[in-house]
Amino acid sequence: MGIPETSPSGPAAESLRRPGSAGTAPPGGRRAGLERETDRLFHALGHLGWVREECGLFAPLTLEIRRLKEEAGATILAHSYQTPDILYGIADFRGDSLQLSIEASKTSADVIVFCGVRFMAETAKILSPEKRVLLPAPDAGCSLDESITAADVRRLRRQYPDAAVVCYVNTTAAVKAESTVCCTSANGLEIVEGIPERQILFVPDQLMGKNLQARTKKEIIPWGGTCIVHETFTPESLQAHRKHFPDAEILVHTECNPDVVAAADLAGGTGDMIRHIKNSSSRRFMLVTECGLADRLRVEFPDREFVGTCVLCPHMKKTELRKVMEVLTDPGPDQIIEVEESVRIRAKRTLDRMFEITSRSLPA
Ligand code: SF4
Repeated sequence: MGIPETSPSGPAAESLRRPGSAGTAPPGGRRAGLERETDRLFHALGHLGWVREECGLFAPLTLEIRRLKEEAGATILAHSYQTPDILYGIADFRGDSLQLSIEASKTSADVIVFCGVRFMAETAKILSPEKRVLLPAPDAGCSLDESITAADVRRLRRQYPDAAVVCYVNTTAAVKAESTVCCTSANGLEIVEGIPERQILFVPDQLMGKNLQARTKKEIIPWGGTCIVHETFTPESLQAHRKHFPDAEILVHTECNPDVVAAADLAGGTGDMIRHIKNSSSRRFMLVTECGLADRLRVEFPDREFVGTCVLCPHMKKTELRKVMEVLTDPGPDQIIEVEESVRIRAKRTLDRMFEITSRSLPA
């Protein structure tokens, strides 16, 4: 929360914020416009090993998408796990899901294009009901949000009438609507400690729930969902990397198993990792999370080294430039995000409770 994560940093990222949009008639004509676009892409993506010719292949698409975006009065949000062509070719904001939705609600744009998965676009709609929210990859789901339904939460509430339901942000609007308060990977402990109830039904991430239990005296009853990416990491692979790169700091996402979290130098969400890297004197890091974050940070911190293995999220990789172009020209009904108003209002209340608790601890 309050993380300026969505403001890219580093020299390569700086160059991507240069004015000079695609425009309808780039100065010097279309060929010159394409050359400039290719240069812009290469300046950022060259750090990841992309060659100029490769950037030239993407340039017509990114140029056209940027033109369409302006024409539609749209802003493009990209989660950190998206591919580099999305993150650095077309995105206005990069970051974690909630931070992006907050940024989007502050912009004057009428249209939000969310390059991410469905629950993220729904969260943007909950916070910005007056805006048109578009999801280029309508089938991009998430193993966490798909593990639980609103009916499951209602059943849990009947079973544990004295418990509060804390939902991780990776949930549908319908599940948020049935919950007491929302949380993120960064503020989970603060939320659990900040509510009066002693018994907490934590949904849907079982591993995050277990990680929270290790840090609180309250009783956490976790739901059984897991992230198909983060559940795969093992402490053995971390130890092997520590041996090989003894100077590397190991940063682990709190969706990982508790024994992996216990072996880390830092455990948190993507925003925590970025903040830590910004302030750390270490030059080398191992990121135990989805591959997209390491790619993003290689661009934004070209003077740091990122080592180790990562795992791709199949849902996050469903967004492609072609689909973004499609959604800006002629979106299908399943690409337009709608949240029924009574659900939206209750889901918004669940998010607002989280903002109230976290703002209490903000410096005056
Ligand atoms: S990385 Fe995990 S939590 Fe994130 S969208 Fe993919 S499955 Fe869901």
